[in-house]
Amino acid sequence: MNPLTTPISIDYMKSTKASPQKTRKIRLEIEKLMSLGCDRVALLDLIANPPADGINMGAWHNASVIALKTESAMADVLSHRLPPDCTAGHWVYSVGAVAGGDETVRGSGLPQQYREAQPTVGFPISEAQRTELNGAIVDILSRVSPPYFLPAVYMNCRICKRIHHARSESCPLTIKRFSTGPRLE
Ligand SMILES: [Zn+2]
Repeated sequence: MNPLTTPISIDYMKSTKASPQKTRKIRLEIEKLMSLGCDRVALLDLIANPPADGINMGAWHNASVIALKTESAMADVLSHRLPPDCTAGHWVYSVGAVAGGDETVRGSGLPQQYREAQPTVGFPISEAQRTELNGAIVDILSRVSPPYFLPAVYMNCRICKRIHHARSESCPLTIKRFSTGPRLE
């Protein structure tokens, strides 16, 4: 199928993480971050897209169109990711891809804020824990390069086994491997 000319429905999306088990796992991970003492927690949904072709800037335009279509196809799933009373924020990043390179150099789109993160409640931590947490965060951020654009999105990459930019550094297996995307058959 041509994702540019064909309507994209949820049936074409793979790895949507919409099952009750996956939803529960996502929510447990959010609670884990809250119990660590994070002031605010947000979930970032990454949607990978097939590379788009086009003439000159047209390729970037087409990549953006596909990214918007897959984000729309995911709308119902995304709206049920978090319980209504959850204080976690929710961001969705449908990463448009342009043929000829990976999204680190040929990408389009920006993370969209679906829900603003509210201050975490119900997970009190001690002053000592807070000091340790702050020290660890400063240590982690001191080892990553400054963001090239805002909002800055870093990921704890299971493949690279390090924290890096979601898009601005090359990652051997790219974002596609562990996010959602249309199934092209
Ligand atoms: Zn990586």
